Amino acid sequence: MDDLIRTLGAELGPDGVLTGDAVSTRSAGIWRSDAIAAPVIFRPANTEQVAMVLRACNAAGQPVVTHGGLTGLVKGAIATEQDVILSTERLNAIETLSVVDRTMQVQAGVKLAEAQDRAESEGLMLALDMGARGSCTLGGNAATNAGGNRVIRYGMTRDNVLGLEAVLADGTVVSSLNGMLKNNAGYDLKQLFIGSEGTLGVITRLVLRLRTAWQSQNTALVACQDFTAVTSLLRGLDVSLGGTLSAYEVLWQNYYKLVAGDNPPLSTDYPYYVLVEALGADITADHERFLGAISAAIDNKLVADAVVCKSGAEREALWQLRDNVDRTMDCGPVFIFDVSLRLSHMEAYVDTVLERLRAEWAGSDYHIWVFGHAGDGNLHFVCAMGDREQATRDRVERAVYEPLAQIRGSVSGEHGIGLEKKRWLTTSRTPEEIALMQALKQALDPRGILNPNRVFDLSGANADASEDG
Ligand SMILES: Cc1cc2nc3c(=O)[nH]c(=O)nc-3n(C[C@H](O)[C@H](O)[C@H](O)COP(=O)(O)OP(=O)(O)OC[C@H]3O[C@@H](n4cnc5c(N)ncnc54)[C@H](O)[C@@H]3O)c2cc1C
Repeated sequence: MDDLIRTLGAELGPDGVLTGDAVSTRSAGIWRSDAIAAPVIFRPANTEQVAMVLRACNAAGQPVVTHGGLTGLVKGAIATEQDVILSTERLNAIETLSVVDRTMQVQAGVKLAEAQDRAESEGLMLALDMGARGSCTLGGNAATNAGGNRVIRYGMTRDNVLGLEAVLADGTVVSSLNGMLKNNAGYDLKQLFIGSEGTLGVITRLVLRLRTAWQSQNTALVACQDFTAVTSLLRGLDVSLGGTLSAYEVLWQNYYKLVAGDNPPLSTDYPYYVLVEALGADITADHERFLGAISAAIDNKLVADAVVCKSGAEREALWQLRDNVDRTMDCGPVFIFDVSLRLSHMEAYVDTVLERLRAEWAGSDYHIWVFGHAGDGNLHFVCAMGDREQATRDRVERAVYEPLAQIRGSVSGEHGIGLEKKRWLTTSRTPEEIALMQALKQALDPRGILNPNRVFDLSGANADASEDG
């Protein structure tokens, strides 16, 4: 590795290579207290330099872990002492924005929030959005096919990327910078890289799809007395809001109690709370329609109580409730889950998981919070069970994941598999699907240097990731 650092150091220059304290004083992830274990971070400044780093690493059989904004939640970017890190932090330019084409071309290290702001400054919108927007990168979003807060209307990252450029393990640059909505000339190669968690190539550039910016934004927090009301309300709002519904985030009571604090916008007595948002084009008419939809839902007994935002500050405060996940960490170390399932299975599934955990932890001090992008069938469990031992994690994972097999749910709605969920991949994917993933990996990265052993082990055995934290 020393030779590699020396050779690449000479090529990339002083800003292009970090070693020693410059590496070991960096935290391994946004919510992690441990330092980066790898001895070196390569910081290429352009695609050609990314290709140079990968070519050299591939020739040396050197494992490479790619770093974006380090907000990932499945240990995908956690490197060992044997790895080198390739960071996209210097690939940080917004290259072009076309108002006519409604596209923006960015380098992979651009932060999501910067791209959102840039689009907004041109009267356009990048629909992708999530709580980590200030830190996560668009390359990381694409690598994880991130979802977020507006999937119900605009889809996941995959639906908001028109083209991309990626560098393969051997340094080959695959430039697929399509800027059109339609292009069926052969395979849609960008989709290979989106959601493959950095195992097939390093994404260096993206062409993003932009939309016309919304003019009206209406937001409400409503309370529901039962889960049937939650699902009926979703169907009802979809119709009454004329397709403008853009967020439907459900908070179970105990998560609401935790994040709402001493001055809750709605009483904490209800079992479910829904954060509803609609984006539209007509400020007055959309507001009236939104108020009408909520009051009809109250009349129909789907909504027990509601607060509708009257200002941007109130909207901000409501979204803070939903995004305040770090409050759970005040109660000790947590395990975070990100499952996906059909809405028709959701109530029974959550009950099953909670019953199982309560039975196993009866008499102990523990907390389980449930919330999520329920309109997309995507739920988060945050479990504080007293410690973060592997044996504890195993027990919680079994309770959360095993019931998914029967209902054909997914162990990952949006965060991915990384190192953390490898052994549960078989719960959601068939042997044939996993074999095809492995064949793709073998074809594109035959030496297995890119993010090795993320998603699955090339040997075929989906071994457990034993790392803690
Ligand atoms: C507060 C908070 C809220 C969040 N909310 C959501 C949410 O609503 N929806 C959601 O889906 N996720 C959410 N996440 C998870 C996380 O933000 C996403 O997974 C995000 O897409 C990761 O981007 P990143 O740049 O931080 O990637 P990193 O964490 O740096 O990396 C994630 C993975 O992608 C790989 N990677 C990174 N960049 C590249 C690249 N250029 N080429 C190839 N591989 C690469 C890494 O090797 C790693 O495997 C949230 C996280 C936090 C902390």
